[in-house]
Amino acid sequence: MKIAVYPGSFDPITLGHLNIIRRASAIFDRVNVCVMHNSEKITLFNLQERVELIERVVGRLKNVNVDTSELLLVEYAKSVGASVIIRGLRAVSDFEKEFQLATINKKMYPRVETVFLAASEKYTYLSSSVVKEMVRYGADLSDFVPREIIQDIIDKTKIGR
Ligand code: ADP
Repeated sequence: MKIAVYPGSFDPITLGHLNIIRRASAIFDRVNVCVMHNSEKITLFNLQERVELIERVVGRLKNVNVDTSELLLVEYAKSVGASVIIRGLRAVSDFEKEFQLATINKKMYPRVETVFLAASEKYTYLSSSVVKEMVRYGADLSDFVPREIIQDIIDKTKIGR
């Protein structure tokens, strides 16, 4: 059984992330989407809230699990028996950081492979930061995030004001 981990901040999950999850779920037997704790990032949603938003939108994908971890990514991968790490690549600007991460992860856990999926053309511009910026200006979020979570993002942004 090929288990893949798709790690990230997902603050919040976007249509770009969801596109990667769908495509990965068609390739691997199981995909664990893992919301990683990152003490350097101040987030809009806490870990549990991010997990809950992802669970709501991946509900119909039977081989996708949603998880959270404070472990080092490779330690998390080992703990769930995953041999693949999935990352999405949007542009050349993503490449340098991603290549460095993949190299470090391989060094720490030689049995793990990082697999890059090219962002769908429709979502190459899209990031969680763009979503957070747009919602502050009252923009329509339907081209950016799954419909089911739009109101959560609007409400959360209002609380922070
Ligand atoms: P991180 O903080 O780990 O970069 P993100 O939540 O920003 O977490 O992204 C998680 C992964 O999803 C990364 O590999 C990122 O490149 C990828 N990703 C983000 N947005 C998109 C998108 N629009 N299309 C494809 N992949 C994306």
